[in-house]
Amino acid sequence: MQTLLLQNTDQDIACAGEILRRGGLVAIPTETVYGLAANALDGAAVARIFVAKGRPQDNPLIVHISDISQWRPLVRDIPDSAMALAKAYWPGPLTIILPKSDIIPDEVSAGLDTVAVRFPSMRTTRRIIDAAGVPLAAPSANLSGSPSPTCARHTMDDMRGRIDAVLDGGDCNFGVESTVVTLATEVPRLLRPGAVTPEELRDVLGRLEIDEAVMGKLKEGVKAASPGMKYRHYSPKAEVTIVKSTLEAFCRFTEQVRDKSEVFALCFDGEQNTIPLSCVTYGREDDPLTQSHRLFTALRELDERGAKTVYARCPSTEGVGMAVYNRLLRAAGFHVVIL
Ligand code: AMP
Ligand code: MG
Repeated sequence: MQTLLLQNTDQDIACAGEILRRGGLVAIPTETVYGLAANALDGAAVARIFVAKGRPQDNPLIVHISDISQWRPLVRDIPDSAMALAKAYWPGPLTIILPKSDIIPDEVSAGLDTVAVRFPSMRTTRRIIDAAGVPLAAPSANLSGSPSPTCARHTMDDMRGRIDAVLDGGDCNFGVESTVVTLATEVPRLLRPGAVTPEELRDVLGRLEIDEAVMGKLKEGVKAASPGMKYRHYSPKAEVTIVKSTLEAFCRFTEQVRDKSEVFALCFDGEQNTIPLSCVTYGREDDPLTQSHRLFTALRELDERGAKTVYARCPSTEGVGMAVYNRLLRAAGFHVVIL
């Protein structure tokens, strides 16, 4: 299959809409990461997403809408708490899970009785949804397991020959996937951290539990509330270790690496001259939004530069930092050393 590269023009957005209406797959930009979209109400189209990504069948998809009025038909009911969240943070990088209605195909919910919905803020994303005329199921547009793509080139690298088209809308603003919160439990529960922080959710909801899969590895035999969180994920080919330490201790630690040829540091801006390894940077130490913007690009860059072993400086877990740490932890296969 030849994969078209579409541009952010009226004509190409109309073309993307046409492909999606016919049951095809188009990778689309959003403010979080590039998504691999199909008509969410067409089970056969959605099934093709799983094939193109090599995604495990038990990992459900997020449905994207371009107006809040499109939400009601997708869910059984919209409780006041959900509407309050939507009013506060939609359009934006927040996904809300509620019990699903009968029009959601099993392929979207992966057999669960809930559906995840997001109203993105990026104008181009909303124009594509409008052009398709249907809600779009769209997981991140990477091959399953690799870092999510945050630009059209990375999307093409993973999806060339596997889908109908990629629409180039430039670099993603946030660079990590949306915050996922479920309101289908007795107490609202954060399943995946993102740019909307736990503090911001608590401001609206009052109570919020943090799922144990967010900051650590699920114990053997525990069922994942968010199936996507149980996999090793976002991973470059290199073996990544998070090193929790000061910059000084990090430098002493990496100084001891004997053969430094394929060993890299994933570090903060400005640390390249201090660390005795080849370095790839992922934002400013004191600014988690620059880290989220850079992280997945940095992980792909490590592959492009042939890294075999990577030691990563540990981000703060405060605010948006929780999302950055959560992704890096999975990229590292939960491998953390504390100095
Ligand atoms: P992706 O869009 O590739 O980032 O993947 C979507 C994420 O949302 C995965 O981690 C899923 O496990 C999670 N998700 C989607 N729908 C649901 C749902 N109904 N219940 C729990 N988690 C969900
Ligand atoms: Mg994903």
